[in-house]
Amino acid sequence: MPDYKDATNAIHSGVRQTQEQENSEAIFATSSFAYSSAEEAASKFSGEENGNVYSRFTNPTVELFEKRLATLEKGEAAIATSSGMAALMTMAYSLLSAGDKVVCSRNIFGSTVKFFSTYTTKFGVEVVYVDATDYQAWEDAIDEKTKLCYFETPSNPLYEVVDVQRVADLAHEKGALLCVDTVLATPALQNPLTQGADIVMQSATKFIDGQGRTLGGALISSKEIVEVFTAFMRSAGPCMSPFNAWVLVNGLETLALRMTAHSANALKLAQFLEAHPKVKKVNYGGLPSHKYHELAKRQQKDFGGLLSFEVEGGREAAWQVINSANLVSITGNLGDTKTLVTHPATTTHGRLTDEEKAKAGIVEGLIRVSVGLEDIEDIITDFDGALSQI
Ligand SMILES: *Cc1c(COP(=O)(O)O)cnc(C)c1O
Repeated sequence: MPDYKDATNAIHSGVRQTQEQENSEAIFATSSFAYSSAEEAASKFSGEENGNVYSRFTNPTVELFEKRLATLEKGEAAIATSSGMAALMTMAYSLLSAGDKVVCSRNIFGSTVKFFSTYTTKFGVEVVYVDATDYQAWEDAIDEKTKLCYFETPSNPLYEVVDVQRVADLAHEKGALLCVDTVLATPALQNPLTQGADIVMQSATKFIDGQGRTLGGALISSKEIVEVFTAFMRSAGPCMSPFNAWVLVNGLETLALRMTAHSANALKLAQFLEAHPKVKKVNYGGLPSHKYHELAKRQQKDFGGLLSFEVEGGREAAWQVINSANLVSITGNLGDTKTLVTHPATTTHGRLTDEEKAKAGIVEGLIRVSVGLEDIEDIITDFDGALSQI
């Protein structure tokens, strides 16, 4: 293919038309593939001849999603998984052995902490948590045993932004790999592989789908590293379904446009909330007042659709606002056309102890908003009405 730009690649890359001459991508809803002879089956199974064998190994629809995502993330290759957590598991079990160490940001998705702390330590892997924006802490924690460094940027729900190149340099100095979770930015707004990261982790469940319909995940990296993941996938099987891959291929086509629209709405809501007398603080990278505004501007094309804000009056006031809003959905998901709200302290971060919550900055008055694509005036009116109930 010629060297097309991102908007073109989002629509055309990876496409392989079948003899039916379909213009929309086909869904290969098949678990296995049939051959014309025993000889052909033997050579496909042995890998002597290229071709599909079984959908846990390869599936054309899933491959299309992988190719297109790899192109947009500026990686050599990608592997799709059944969910974002399945991508994390695939990476951890492929790369880590007993005696290895993981240095991980503390400011990450709750299930990621749970997975690292419970299921990798079980096999003799040490996990050390650091404050994501404390570069001295990264430097002190990364040693010769460290195999993997891991963080999210921007982080959920406080919108902390981590300097990718800076942590990548610290990791590479000791021979460790850096994996970055950019679920909130998506490949449309940030490409960590061009900023020093070795692996990108995506939950396609969020903005890549964009309409709250399917679960999916992916790891994007060099060919060499993705081959290691592929070997694990073939044996362990956390693969993406062809139907979900098809939904997500279509999600990628409109991702950049949607992220621009999510970002525009989120900025307007953030500005409204910042000026509201009942709001103590707004966490959104697009606000010049935000601690990480300059770094976000340097690393990202735009600021995305997720923000959080703190109201006076703790849990009672936060719940009052959430319960008084009419238009928005109360749900733990994010990255939907619909505006979604959640109370992190009692939902997404409810599993943390009070001490862990305090360390992570998850206060009782905090409300997270995944700003949707409704008319921004209606979204603001909804929050204005809800805030007046406190
Ligand atoms: C949702 C999410 C995940 C996990 O993805 P699933 O598809 O739900 O398994 C990981 N990281 C972040 C930042 C997320 O928002």
